[in-house]
Formats: sequence, structure tokens, C-alpha cells
Amino acid sequence: MSSTGTKLETPGAKPHPKLRALLVEDNALDAALVVRALFKEGFDVIADVVQDEAAFTKALLAHNPEVVLADYNLPNWKGMEVLTVLRREGLDIPMILVSGALGDVTAVECIKQGATDYVLKDGLARLPEVVRRALREKHERSLRHQVEKDLAKKADELARSNADLEQFAYVASHDLQEPLRMVAAYTQLLSERYKGKLDETADKFIGYASDGALRMQVLIQDLLAFSRVGRNTAASEGIDCNGVMKEVLQTLAAAIQESGAVVTHGELPAIWGDRTQIAQVFQNLIGNAIKFRGDNSPAISVQAEKTDQHWLFTVSDNGIGIAPEHAENIFVVFQRLHARTEYPGNGIGLAICKKIVERYGGRIWVEAQAGSGSTFKFTMPLHGPDEKPEVQP
Ligand code: ADP
Repeated sequence: MSSTGTKLETPGAKPHPKLRALLVEDNALDAALVVRALFKEGFDVIADVVQDEAAFTKALLAHNPEVVLADYNLPNWKGMEVLTVLRREGLDIPMILVSGALGDVTAVECIKQGATDYVLKDGLARLPEVVRRALREKHERSLRHQVEKDLAKKADELARSNADLEQFAYVASHDLQEPLRMVAAYTQLLSERYKGKLDETADKFIGYASDGALRMQVLIQDLLAFSRVGRNTAASEGIDCNGVMKEVLQTLAAAIQESGAVVTHGELPAIWGDRTQIAQVFQNLIGNAIKFRGDNSPAISVQAEKTDQHWLFTVSDNGIGIAPEHAENIFVVFQRLHARTEYPGNGIGLAICKKIVERYGGRIWVEAQAGSGSTFKFTMPLHGPDEKPEVQP
């Protein structure tokens, strides 16, 4: 047998597609037996037979084999070194050892190092099934890789399109502020200077115009606040949520007093995040719990518990509740369930909460029934980005 390799081919009369095999074998008879064993079980084999690294590399690149069948012991090379070449070339090709007696320990070691399987030369009847399984696994592996690649590409595209949208929302809301400020200022001026000097209808129209401009200003500011959440890299520091809660309750003091709300909270943890944004989440949730109250004074409870994977926060109230079919869409920008005359607001608060929580890899959702209070839940990571998770004993 030459050192550049020889070619073995089964008669090829069968309708099967050819199996391209690369045999690393110094014994011509053994190589022929391997090809025969495969042929007997329906493989139409076209095989290159080589016995050293140079010939192996050459045949590998020239013939793109689907499977490598390597003898363990060779006079000029070692069968297991096939794996080094495959790795060097970045190729995922199943390698099956076809060998004389190979102790169990050695066989297990070979599989640990990356051989797909091994078949003894005096048990070649097993080879076709082993090859079939190896090809099937390889096929499944490449399908999985393809799906993962497609998924990563889609995630990439989505992230890019989200970033574009965010940029658009930011630029649009930012740049609209100035002309809108002019409209608001001049309709205000019109109303001040000409109220009562024109007719009643004119007063009404000027009133509508300035109300509209003011509302649009609030909407644009909300949109700007929403798009700002994602603009900077997520700052991360250790935050004591008890302190954050104290500040939030101070900010909401007027609404709490006016509604007679009672807000209680258990011991809250220190978490990683941006202090201002975490405060925004608590403030929006507690603010809503006060705003969407029922006939009784609001009773609001904030709790936190540690699970295996994250901190789980719960903000529950005894307010008007939410019908389960709206549980998802209330987190979408500008989605509201009530007219502004019923409950004031623009429908941006929960969208901001969701964006903040998701920036930290968390999740936010509501468990509620119409008429029987709402429980908002959100998760935050247990660890900061550079912090090593605690080692469990
Ligand atoms: P806004 O409060 O400005 O309406 P949000 O985004 O904060 O906007 O909330 C969206 C909608 O979700 C609200 O309009 C309301 O219908 C519903 N909602 C939010 N929080 C509660 C709550 N605690 N109880 C009942 N409904 C709520």
C-alpha cells in the first residue's frame, strides 16, 4: 500500500448514495474487510485508505469524508492522532476506531478523548450500525448548530432593529420637544392675550389647542424617558432596597396621604442595578397600586424572597384588579385599560418597568383578576456582573 493512500470502492450497483469513508489502516486485507462489512449492510462505500499523517491530511482535504475509520495501532502513526488533525482543520467528522484487541480502559479513554465509538476487527458485523448511528448523530449535531446559528443571527438582527427603533424614538421625541414648546408657548400666549376678546368659540378652540399641546408635551417627555432607559450601559452597584423604598415612599407621600394608603414591606435585599431605575420600578408599581384603588383605602405590600436563581419581588394591592386577558398588553408602551378621565396617566409606567427589569435579565408580570386586587412580580439577578456566585456548601 503506498503512503499516499489507495482507493477501495464497492461495486456500486446499488441505489444507495456513496458513503465517503477515510480509512486509516496499514493492512490492505483489513481495509477490504471493513469495506465489505459496510457493503453487506447496504453502504455503497468509496474509501480512501491511508496510513500516515501526511496522506491523511491530504485525503481529508481532497475528499471531504463523512466518516473516518482508524486502526488504533499503525507502524508509522497513531490512530488517535486523527483527532488532532480533525481539530486542527476545524472539522466535525465522526471517527470510529476499528482495531484489534483494545482493552476496555483504553477504549473508554479513546472515547473520552473524542473518538465516536470503537469496533473490534473480529466483530465487524457491528460496524454498519455504529457508522449509521455516528452519521445520524452528526446530522443532528449539524442541524442543531444551524438552528443555533439562525437563532443567534435572528437575535442579532432583533437587537439591531431594537437599537434602531430606540434611537428613532429618542431622536424623534428629543427633536420634537423644541417645536412643540413653541406651539405650547404661543397657544398659551394667545389664550392669555385674547381670552374674552374674540368670541366664545374662539376661546374654546384656543383652549383645545393649548390642552392638546400640553398633553403632547407630556407624551413626548414620557417617550423620551422610556427611550432613555436603554441608552446608557446598565450601571450596576449594590443597592439597599430598604433605602430605595424609603425614598420612594417619601416621593409618593402626598398620594399616600390623600388616598389613606397603607404601604407595608418586609426586609428587602441589597441587589445589583441602577439606583434611579430601581426606584423608578418601585415608584411606578406603588404609584399604580394607589391610583388604581377600589372602594377601600389602598393596602399595599412589598415583599422579596430569594430563590435559587434570582430575587423575586412582589408588589400586591387590593385595588380594581386587571382582567387576565390584559395581563400582557399593559406592559406595552401607551397601552391603558381606562380613559384618562377615569384614571390619569399615559400608559408608559409599566413599559418602563419592563424595560428596566429586562435590562438586568429579569422578568416582570402580573397575577390579577378584575375586581380583586393585583400582584405584580419581578425578578432581579442575585449577583452583580463581576461578582462570583456564592459556592453552595
Ligand atoms: P398608566 O398608569 O399611566 O395608565 P401604566 O403603564 O403604569 O400606565 O399602566 C398601564 C395600565 O395597566 C393602566 O392604565 C391600568 O389599566 C393597568 N394597571 C397598572 N397597574 C395596575 C394596578 N395596580 N391595578 C389595576 N390596574 C393596573
